[in-house]
Amino acid sequence: MTQPCSEQSEPIKHGCGIMGVYGCPDAVDKVYYGLYALQHRGEESAGIASTNGKVIQWHKGMGLVSQVFTPEDLKRLRNHAAIGHVRYSTVGLSHPLNAQPLVGECSFGGSPAAQIAIAHNGQLTEAVSQKRLLESQGSLFQTTCDTEIILHLMARSEFHTDLGKLFKNLKGSFSLLILTQKEMIAVRDPGGFRPLCLGKLEGGYVLASESCALDQAGAEYVREVAPGEIIYINKDGMRAERFAPERPSYCIFELIYFSRPDSRFAGQNVHLFRKALGIKLAEEQPARADIVIPVPEGGNSAAMGYSQASGIPLDRGFIRNHYVGRTFILPRADSRSRKAEIKLNAIPEVVRGKRVVVVDDSIVRGTTSKSRFSLLRKAGAKEIHVRISCPPHRYPCYYGIDFQIKEELIAATRSLKEMPGFLDVDSLGYLSIEGMLSCTPSPKDYCIACFAGKYPIPVGEEEKKTPSGGSPTTPEEREERVGEHTIVV
Ligand code: SF4
Repeated sequence: MTQPCSEQSEPIKHGCGIMGVYGCPDAVDKVYYGLYALQHRGEESAGIASTNGKVIQWHKGMGLVSQVFTPEDLKRLRNHAAIGHVRYSTVGLSHPLNAQPLVGECSFGGSPAAQIAIAHNGQLTEAVSQKRLLESQGSLFQTTCDTEIILHLMARSEFHTDLGKLFKNLKGSFSLLILTQKEMIAVRDPGGFRPLCLGKLEGGYVLASESCALDQAGAEYVREVAPGEIIYINKDGMRAERFAPERPSYCIFELIYFSRPDSRFAGQNVHLFRKALGIKLAEEQPARADIVIPVPEGGNSAAMGYSQASGIPLDRGFIRNHYVGRTFILPRADSRSRKAEIKLNAIPEVVRGKRVVVVDDSIVRGTTSKSRFSLLRKAGAKEIHVRISCPPHRYPCYYGIDFQIKEELIAATRSLKEMPGFLDVDSLGYLSIEGMLSCTPSPKDYCIACFAGKYPIPVGEEEKKTPSGGSPTTPEEREERVGEHTIVV
């Protein structure tokens, strides 16, 4: 190692963003720009691995894309095929060793010294038990992230000629890009929890977590990688195969919160979906008010919908400081709340003496929301009515989003009656599960486990007990274990 949207408004960590280009002389530059477009999916570390057909070179480190790569790094990596990754840890520590792509060497694909680079977005739901089994059989792990399990499995001869067999038996969420000296491989789990889309360039192909990264690379959007599909891209072109029947469980929170508004996911534009949520929210949770204001940037689209449907004028009550990084990249709880306060400021001239409807995309832990609403109070708002464009989060996510501890979820620990008092607001209204699903084209194709508690794929008991795969789970533990690698931007 040579050295680590949507604009979210709550301290939730996403998994990762991945990007790959095959068949272009400037593949590395395109991946680099694509990672910029995916930066909102992970700010802890970034990396690119590329191949010239003979060897895989790589560069990765802690920090933002802009901090990790110099022009010299990109020049050194310049090759016709490359994959890249931006990461926020859901399993494994925030540590340089866990930065991706992970690179290993084995006899994969008939070559005695094949190099494999892998970039993963998602979370394996049997990671603890699988890792233990592999260790008992002699595997020695270099990192603490679940992605390395896939690398160890790929090294096994039984999967060398049948990768589909490996992925058919892998449990959890995984959108993957794999680079060997000869080809780039894309894989999406049968549920399709995390996004992965395919684009076409002159002479080559692009794969990326979100379509906004394809735009950045100048690629033409082709389609999403289907759940349960493997795509091989090499000098002979592209070949797609199914390794399992698709059982769609698209993460609806990708649409509500994570993905950039200019991206498409599960066949929908993210901004328009959020606007539809706002329209539905206004129907279900009306409020007598003078203005609607969004919590920027996450609440912007839903607030537009709420204003349109309610007839209450939309205004900007908060101004965001664009030079403060996203709150949730901070592992220390105290730093998070401090950062939340300097990130937003209220405009007294807009809210003073007014009954204000504040629209946000979610309240998960509630740690920053309270301080934000208090800014409106201080700025002179007469009444504060909070409207949330998704249902209450009452259950953990084990599929790649960092809210894996029920006790940390405000709606799991407080009743809806208690919450307005806790948040110091006049009223609070959430969108219903039915209302949310009515904005999708096919409601049964979405994972809604964090709202409804019904998990589309089982989660191992050990993983439930140690949801982060043995990594620290509380901010205090993280601070203690992460030590010198704690990121405070
Ligand atoms: S539990 Fe929630 S956040 Fe996790 S995959 Fe399902 S919808 Fe997405």
